Amino acid sequence: MKEDYLQFAWRTLSFKSTGLRTRGGQALKIIDPGIQNTNQGPDFLNAVIRLGKMEIHGHIEVHMHGDEWFRHGHHRDPMYNNTILHVVYEKGEQMALRLDGTQIPELIIASILDPELLNRYQMLRRNMDDIPCKGLMHTVPSKLMHTWFDALAVERMQQKADRIRASVGEKNWDWGQAYFQALAKCFGGTLNGDAFEYLSAFIPFHLIRKYHDRLETVEAILLGTAGFLNRKHMLDAHEKLLKSEWQYYKRKHHPQAPEPVSFKYMRMRPASFPDVRLAQLASFLHHFPEPGIFSDAKSRSALRMQKPCPSSYWDSRFRFAVPSDVHKPKLPGDTFLHLLTVNVLFPFGLAMQNEFGQKYMNMEEWKDYRMMPPEQNKITRTFASLGFQAQDAAGAQGQIQLYKQFCLQKKCLNCAAGCFLLAGEASNIQR
Ligand code: SF4
Repeated sequence: MKEDYLQFAWRTLSFKSTGLRTRGGQALKIIDPGIQNTNQGPDFLNAVIRLGKMEIHGHIEVHMHGDEWFRHGHHRDPMYNNTILHVVYEKGEQMALRLDGTQIPELIIASILDPELLNRYQMLRRNMDDIPCKGLMHTVPSKLMHTWFDALAVERMQQKADRIRASVGEKNWDWGQAYFQALAKCFGGTLNGDAFEYLSAFIPFHLIRKYHDRLETVEAILLGTAGFLNRKHMLDAHEKLLKSEWQYYKRKHHPQAPEPVSFKYMRMRPASFPDVRLAQLASFLHHFPEPGIFSDAKSRSALRMQKPCPSSYWDSRFRFAVPSDVHKPKLPGDTFLHLLTVNVLFPFGLAMQNEFGQKYMNMEEWKDYRMMPPEQNKITRTFASLGFQAQDAAGAQGQIQLYKQFCLQKKCLNCAAGCFLLAGEASNIQR
């Protein structure tokens, strides 16, 4: 038993709340348990109770043991002057006192907690599964879960937007540079994302913008910075062209050279090799050189209709300057574009909207987001196996947020499913 459960029980009134009496024997009725306070001061603010015939408004403090009131020094703290009820699991030596010496009514809650809900809480706490409520989740109404996924999807998107804003701050509020580096990391994928991000920091984004209408120049800047344009002999025509673009760029802009980077190729589909991804990134920047690409419907449908495809040179290559027998345009796949949209483009739009107003994101974008198919990964497959198939991209993002921010951290008392399982309803979720 921990104090957080007592607070949860108070918040959701999940105990026998009729016929209550205080330690002093007064009849007690809870009219409103108040708002949980996560800052300094009493645990619940602005509660309403009736003591005898008198209705009282004020704050509630919750403790496992009554003596904690004095141990925490609340009797000397004016912030606790307006406490109207001390809720304790076990009574202490004496009842709580305010700064002026007046006694605070006390409710001893141990004997009125619902033993079945308490058992469930202890079962969830002790369960070492990644999703401790796995065995009970099927009892949670589907509508409640899907509403919860939606709410968490918004939270997840907002957190991504906040991280983007922080990274823009680290780059002297250069939104373009931050956008470029976030894109590069995403194109690099799990294995080469850090290397791509590192290299992109050596390329001023205003130069990408300057040259964006020449695909070969953008490709030369990216491949040159990544060290692909150092070969001196046996160059093919495209390699020669890129090399001359790269040399022009170096002569004109004197870019700082990064440390050499070793890309990873092992256990990777050739279509995701870093060479191909750099070429796709060049093509993407050629088509969409501005951050906030979802500022208008035209860009949105452009990305859908015209996937950024590298030049035909890449049709017969998975590695730069190494011909392959397979001839196929190196279009980015739907799964990758989905990840790019969910992890970079939408959060960037939201971050820019937060910063600059409505221009970069509106309800249309949210509708688009909702209509995208759900991401398939280990987490979404687990929830599907528990009976909650993500219905769209937002639902999948909500499931990822639930899993990472709640289930793994055992925050069941702050979760809608947890509230349903431990209190039989979820209307009093306060986070
Ligand atoms: S956080 Fe919610 S969904 Fe996750 S295990 Fe706890 S109650 Fe279940």
